[in-house]
Amino acid sequence: MGNTYRRVLLKLSGEALMGDLSYGIDPAVVDAICAEIKDVVNTGVEVAVVVGGGNIFRGIKGAAAGMDRATADYIGMIATVMNAMTLQDSLERKGVQTRVLTAIEMQEVAEPYIRRRAIRHLEKGRVVIFGAGSGNPFFTTDTTAALRAAEISAEVVFKATKVDGIYDADPKVNPDARRFQTLTYSYALEKDLRVMDGTAIALCKDNNIPIMVFNLAVEGNIRRALMGEPIGTLVGG
Ligand code: UDP
Repeated sequence: MGNTYRRVLLKLSGEALMGDLSYGIDPAVVDAICAEIKDVVNTGVEVAVVVGGGNIFRGIKGAAAGMDRATADYIGMIATVMNAMTLQDSLERKGVQTRVLTAIEMQEVAEPYIRRRAIRHLEKGRVVIFGAGSGNPFFTTDTTAALRAAEISAEVVFKATKVDGIYDADPKVNPDARRFQTLTYSYALEKDLRVMDGTAIALCKDNNIPIMVFNLAVEGNIRRALMGEPIGTLVGG
């Protein structure tokens, strides 16, 4: 099993930290995810993480309930910082060095996002966890993942999801649905496949960063994906 990648960006949705709960964080699930990240880091791969906040708060839902959208989005961004700190806590308890860098300054709890500092941390073998999304309302943490991947020259974005890749039809509805092993950005955009939002896919396309979509729920998959095993679906040129 080769070390295909040198520097990777892992996008974890907030929901990934929720396990079977309907809200919030399941510490056992977080620990399982972090144990796999540790295995990868120990092989010398540089790992950056962008974490979402959907397990706590989503701006679009707040807006649908009548809140001001931008304010709701800032609340969503702050929710991602809670998740980032949770991942940090779990990784550090496992002996993995980490830094949380936030796009909205919160200097008492995390470093501000400074691109060159993020790269330096990675070079030193620290897991860099990006919190507070891009710092801008009306964006998502998927788009943040694409943006940060481009900024730190990550070779690939790993998008951990609840399905084991992208299908040509809904496998729950259609038993003949087939999983794509590879897919072009244009096809994913054109068919509106919703693996990631369109802005994120377009940004990856412009910067030629492949997106690997894989199932987080299968134990060992983070390690497999980050070590370059062909699980899931690879979206690329
Ligand atoms: N968010 C934002 N700007 C960003 C990233 C996130 O405003 O750059 C807000 C937005 O309200 C979003 C919430 O933070 O709903 C949580 O992020 P996201 O929905 O992407 O999390 P995930 O679906 O990955 O759990």
